[in-house]
Amino acid sequence: METIHLKKAIQPELTIAQWFKNVYYAVKSTAVGMGITFKYVWARPVVTIEYPEVREELPANSRSRLYNDAENCISCLQCAVSCPVDCIYIAAVKRPTDAPKIKTKDGTPIRLDLKQYTIDTALCMYCGLCTTVCPTECLTHTTDYEYASYTLASMKYDYLAPDIRAWRTRIVKS
Ligand code: SF4
Ligand code: SF4
Repeated sequence: METIHLKKAIQPELTIAQWFKNVYYAVKSTAVGMGITFKYVWARPVVTIEYPEVREELPANSRSRLYNDAENCISCLQCAVSCPVDCIYIAAVKRPTDAPKIKTKDGTPIRLDLKQYTIDTALCMYCGLCTTVCPTECLTHTTDYEYASYTLASMKYDYLAPDIRAWRTRIVKS
């Protein structure tokens, strides 16, 4: 039968002086650590906010969620053509010749009836090219950043749908 030899761990005896030294370093390092903590708690300006009770305003020139004020859209397709990821879908038909003449707010004649204006936000990379080329400036970036979604399908925005108008009223400052 194999014999197991147990050896007692050899620990150096602590002198009184070393014991006090250890206590001193423990207290000192705790004080230094807590000093750094309290410096951030009381002596530095607060950089966090309690979202969603408090909401940060993005700068006015932020490139966030797109909005098309469809009543001022002339269906020229320039935004769709300029989009590098082809995420803007537009359908329009020619207005009847006997239909009343209508214009955008900047006076541009509207010769086409917009039937579909959809942006797939899941594909959009917020480059801003579409807003830059829009001749009537009806397509703009907003400062809305609260539009997280559970499905890709729900990130396709139909800018002729009533819920977009409700969103515009809530978000877009005109
Ligand atoms: S911001 Fe860029 S990627 Fe997004 S829809 Fe406009 S052109 Fe396309
Ligand atoms: S560029 Fe502007 S006016 Fe032309 S289709 Fe796009 S949103 Fe409408």
